Amino acid sequence: MKQIVILGATGSIGTNTLDIINRFPDRFQILGLTAKSSDDKLEAIVRRLKPRVVALADPKSAAALARRIRTLNTEVLVGEEGIKQVACLSEADLVISAIVGAAGLIPTLSAIKTGTTVALANKEPMVMAGEIIQGEAKKRGLTILPIDSEHSAIFQVLNGERHIDIKRIVLTASGGPLLKLSKEMQQKVTKEEALNHPNWKMGPKISIDSATLMNKGLEIIEAKWLFDLPPEKIDVVIHPQSIIHSMVEFVDRSVVAQMGLPDMIVPISYVLNYPERTALDLPSLDLAAIGTLNFAAPDFTRFPLLSLAYEVLKAGGTLPSVLNAANEVAVAAFLNERIAFGEIENVIRKTVDAHLPQKAQSIDDVMAADAWARSAGEQTIAQIGSC
Ligand code: NAD
Ligand code: MG
Repeated sequence: MKQIVILGATGSIGTNTLDIINRFPDRFQILGLTAKSSDDKLEAIVRRLKPRVVALADPKSAAALARRIRTLNTEVLVGEEGIKQVACLSEADLVISAIVGAAGLIPTLSAIKTGTTVALANKEPMVMAGEIIQGEAKKRGLTILPIDSEHSAIFQVLNGERHIDIKRIVLTASGGPLLKLSKEMQQKVTKEEALNHPNWKMGPKISIDSATLMNKGLEIIEAKWLFDLPPEKIDVVIHPQSIIHSMVEFVDRSVVAQMGLPDMIVPISYVLNYPERTALDLPSLDLAAIGTLNFAAPDFTRFPLLSLAYEVLKAGGTLPSVLNAANEVAVAAFLNERIAFGEIENVIRKTVDAHLPQKAQSIDDVMAADAWARSAGEQTIAQIGSC
């Protein structure tokens, strides 16, 4: 029985993970769960799976859940400290890191410091502090298992290969719901249009990141740290069908791709069962029925956040943390209808340009840059709002 902790259990990745765990009750046991707040769905999950501990960021929600499940043997913890405690449960065999945004950094790092293998969906901590996270993992002989479909693809392709034989990796990008829109049309996109991803059903933040292509920008930085590759060995190709999840070109020019229908159940099942695989009752990939797979170079003019991410990756230090935090506040402001879609990019660019990059040697350095960028980003958002 593998003992599993899920950080961010109520989200899109968390729900898919619980779905797999429900299908294989003889293989996995839920030890701990965390979420921002509780709802009827989470309560039902707790009643069914009886985890030892649940932690909720929101104190009111935690108190209400504790009252309702007082007859169970599940302990309810509160706040960031409670979430960290769940991440640090030493009996865990695997921690699924699926909180959205920078809020996942400390819990993810704490799980690694406890010596537990982490399966990473929560890409933002890797963007902010990839060097520190990988440093702590390596010290303990831990391999971080990627859940992000592109990184899962590369991880699977690299199985048994030598690092020096990699010529480059190519991350595929669906291009999101706005792939064909002109820059002018993008400015006026509504929340519903931006959230309407053609291939994947995901949480709101990553859906907006996919519409701006910032998601791919974050993923190139994530790839740098997961696979220890310089920016010039990380390419992006637009592939609207999301059938090829990513590929690796080796020095002999052989290109190996990982394919499958777009369903996060597959990469999540891979990390849960790693290094084995397990049969899943899903439709087979039918290439003859699909007929055509399309590819195109990314348009850096219509999607400038992708080139900004490359610039930031090359500059390094505290800049990736600033990029991430500025993106988080800009996306939240768009989702709260405080700024137009086209302003997301302006808020991020202005914040990144105003930052004096420093070395990111400690988590304190990273968190200070994050806090600075949130405040600078908010000021820009307030100025836009008052125009
Ligand atoms: P989501 O919004 O659906 O879920 C986020 C989870 O984090 C929820 O359980 C929520 O309660 C919790 N959470 C949010 N804010 C929190 C806070 N301040 N403190 C503690 N918990 C908090 O997000 P998602 O789509 O499941 O994505 C999760 C992560 O996985 C993101 O980093 C995303 O980029 C990455 N990812 C998601 C997908 C996908 O298909 N959804 C694919 C690849 C990578
Ligand atoms: Mg992805």
